[in-house]
Amino acid sequence: MSNPYHVHSLNEDTYLIEEKTLVNQGLCYLLCGKERALLIDTGFGYPGLKETVTGLTKLPVTVANTHAHVDHVGGNHYFEEIWIHEADKPTFALHANPAYTLDILTAGMPGLVRMVLDVLTRKMRRVDTSGNYHYFGDDKVFHLGGRDVEVIPTPGHSPGCVCFLDRKARMLFSGDSVCEWGVLLHFEKESCPPKTYLQSMERLKGLEDAYDTMWPGHHGYPVEKAYVDEYLTCAGQIVDGTAEYGVTQGRRCAKYKRILITVPKEAVREI
Ligand SMILES: [Zn+2]
Repeated sequence: MSNPYHVHSLNEDTYLIEEKTLVNQGLCYLLCGKERALLIDTGFGYPGLKETVTGLTKLPVTVANTHAHVDHVGGNHYFEEIWIHEADKPTFALHANPAYTLDILTAGMPGLVRMVLDVLTRKMRRVDTSGNYHYFGDDKVFHLGGRDVEVIPTPGHSPGCVCFLDRKARMLFSGDSVCEWGVLLHFEKESCPPKTYLQSMERLKGLEDAYDTMWPGHHGYPVEKAYVDEYLTCAGQIVDGTAEYGVTQGRRCAKYKRILITVPKEAVREI
């Protein structure tokens, strides 16, 4: 495989590292302070990630995950210190199980497709869980030396989903909580009720004066701040029963303007 990592410089001490293969696209970010660097997410962690990071900084690197899904934690073990929100410990255990991640990937697909995808993605779904793991609560701040990065809890997609806020650089790293395409709340063993996600969007809306740009975990970047309003409205409509539903990739989803939110069957039935 050719090197799947592509680096974009966002400012003099912040880099976007795009992981791009035939089967996935994900975004990691490297934030350098004076004493430490923070690597937000590690994708599937293909060979080449560590070399890409050490080619950008000689500082010691701390990993912080926006959440514990397999496509965000795969390269954690390459680095010396790893942090995840404590509420995503069970999510991490689920996603370290290749049978579970195959079920997620192939839900609703015919058996033959499942077999082919199993073979094609087996390596990607094997998570090395070794490493120096730490778990943070809702008020963690990473001090990088002249640069502080705050945890903003945004449960919904998973219970331990967070965004990271750099107030000085006015950047918000939004993981899978806000992106241009949609947000997935349908994982039956993991996702929080839509009301919890609505509260997370209210939290981001309340902080909107603290950032100019949003940097997501997938798809296009940066994301306009106006997307928070769309997710806020859409989640509100799910909760109050006025959402318009469609189907995307075989999943029920609520749609509003440019975005969609997938929901578990129970939430749809309630309405
Ligand atoms: Zn995710």
